[in-house]
Amino acid sequence: MIDYHIHTKRCGHASGEMYEYVERALELGFEEMGFSDHFPFIDRVRPELAMSLSELPDYFYDVEQLRKQYPQITIRLGTEVDYFPHLEKEIGGLLAQHPFDYVIVGVHFIGDWNFDNPNEKNEWQQRDVNEVYEQYIQLLQQAANSRLFNIIAHCDLVKIFGYRPTRDFHEQWDALVQCFAQNDLVVEISTAGLYKPVGEIYPSEEIIGVLKKYDVPIVISSDAHQPQNVGRNFDQAINLAIRHGIKSIAQFEKRKIIQQLPIRHHY
Ligand SMILES: [Zn+2]
Ligand SMILES: [Zn+2]
Repeated sequence: MIDYHIHTKRCGHASGEMYEYVERALELGFEEMGFSDHFPFIDRVRPELAMSLSELPDYFYDVEQLRKQYPQITIRLGTEVDYFPHLEKEIGGLLAQHPFDYVIVGVHFIGDWNFDNPNEKNEWQQRDVNEVYEQYIQLLQQAANSRLFNIIAHCDLVKIFGYRPTRDFHEQWDALVQCFAQNDLVVEISTAGLYKPVGEIYPSEEIIGVLKKYDVPIVISSDAHQPQNVGRNFDQAINLAIRHGIKSIAQFEKRKIIQQLPIRHHY
């Protein structure tokens, strides 16, 4: 099995040493993993959310060292970028300069509002939930159309606190997934949602059905911020994928899918 969504304490809100994440993956019998720590924010300093640009070389160096130290597991170098439409050019420029195996994109901000942050949860009371869903979906669509990224993180993160739209969003999700397909994106099935107030895997079963409909490749991710959370609840995500007829997970190297690995052989 593979887990590509793993953080490090460089982001300011994860804990443990990087080697401990590797050892947890080994303990689980995973043959591959990847670090995807939060990419620096370009126009603001948020030490509690992401590493700074000056820390990137050390991050790369640490991954390089771990590869030497643990030849028995493939360790990929990835990152998770926060999508801001006005920074596309800068993000693209920086990503192109670095040797990532894959780049995950997440939408955590609508304008300046960090909508999934428990400290900013009150803002939900001030907003029209339908509108928030629309804005969120539109941002993801823009992120997909930018073609700067490989993997879409937790694509219905907007449900995190359990606020649900009163309108039917079936068509919007369908169009969004179609947009992912057109832009050759991979979507993660993330178990992290099980531990958030919503208590559900990202994305919903409805969206997983749409992923299958458009043949969008998937990966299964923990979004681990602590070593013991690597590969957490993967059996549940795997069963969900299989139930929807999804048979493989994508394997990345140098920003390309190098193969699709059969899901059944990997748990
Ligand atoms: Zn994080
Ligand atoms: Zn993450």
